[in-house]
Amino acid sequence: MSSQPFPCGPAASRRLTQQVVVEWADSRVAIGGDAPVVVQSMTNTDTADAIGTAIQVRDLAFAGSEIVRITVNTIEAAEAVPAIRDQLDKMNCPVPLVGDFHFNGHKLLAQVPACAEALSKYRINPGNVGRGAKGESQFGAMVEAAQRFNRPIRIGVNWGSLDQDLLARLMDENAARPVPWDAQAVMREALVTSAIRSAQQAIEWGMGRNRITLSAKVSAVQDLVSVYRELSKRTDLPLHLGLTEAGMGSKGIVSSTAAMGILLQEGIGDTIRVSLTPEPGGDRRKEVLVAQEMLQVLGLRAFTPMVIACPGCGRTTSTFFQELADKVQTYLRDQMPIWRREHPGVESMNVAVMGCVVNGPGESKHANIGISLPGTGEQPVAPVYIDGQRGPTLKGDHIAEEFQALIQEYVVKRYR
Ligand code: SF4
Repeated sequence: MSSQPFPCGPAASRRLTQQVVVEWADSRVAIGGDAPVVVQSMTNTDTADAIGTAIQVRDLAFAGSEIVRITVNTIEAAEAVPAIRDQLDKMNCPVPLVGDFHFNGHKLLAQVPACAEALSKYRINPGNVGRGAKGESQFGAMVEAAQRFNRPIRIGVNWGSLDQDLLARLMDENAARPVPWDAQAVMREALVTSAIRSAQQAIEWGMGRNRITLSAKVSAVQDLVSVYRELSKRTDLPLHLGLTEAGMGSKGIVSSTAAMGILLQEGIGDTIRVSLTPEPGGDRRKEVLVAQEMLQVLGLRAFTPMVIACPGCGRTTSTFFQELADKVQTYLRDQMPIWRREHPGVESMNVAVMGCVVNGPGESKHANIGISLPGTGEQPVAPVYIDGQRGPTLKGDHIAEEFQALIQEYVVKRYR
């Protein structure tokens, strides 16, 4: 045995960044500094459809998205933004809205001041504000609008829309190196340089350092890790993490959590968005759930009590075990709107649902409350463990309902 205990998380201390506040009415979301990592998401409705967009924003916000971004791509979309804001306020949903601008943001912010006013933050992509002097003037116009309306900005560069002039210059410089870098390394350097250079320009034009967040999104996990490690060395501005075009289903979830998990564990990242491509007819809120679960399993934040369930194996031949794990998870989520208000701290609770006697009692004892179901051939009884102690034993046809009642009783007693 080692003479010293070896360390276990939580993640490395967060790197100290400036703090940027994004707000609307009473809702105030701090990004960076000592604030917890913020979850955000983005709609996929047509922004010109004010009602449809407001409903999706509300759904995302109620699912736990603390900031919601909407695309503002046309004059119709810009004109719909005040109506979206208004609908959200009427629905008692003060979530701050971020406007995502590309190509024509300078015009839209100037032509529709009510849109600029209704948004709480502007996302600017320096890769597609135009090239050369024109690009600089259009980028300047957006920064000026942010200052006029007293709004923070995110300078968000993206692999798919990189500043081509900058990339060409860096490629030329690279060709003159005695040992040139590979093209991928030059692209990564161009991303980081574009983000930092644009932020410096905005600061020179009078934008406060506490009004800028940065992102540099790519679609490959190792590139993302490398780009953000470098960004975090070169700036103290807060960083918005996200893997762009992460993909669909398990691929999108795995890629996003692999990439962001590494960075968050290293203390890098102040706000996250999980960009999942929804299945046809799928639920947009899934990206919020994945972001929350990522932060929770890393021990960075707690949102909903966690169900610890074994995967099941040949010792659990009926579907009862899976059904119970699913019912308990759903029950916990459904209770959260009330529990969050009445039982603070409950979001850190762990509930174990285990399939048989092999690991069931042990894992259940580690949880706040756990149940060890009978595996095939075991006595048909399910002991419950509460704070590590053996509690009641359940049996019969109503184990699920009785276990939920025990969870409720535990929550009321433990989280007052
Ligand atoms: S606890 Fe039992 S049922 Fe669950 S995976 Fe382990 S051996 Fe299989």
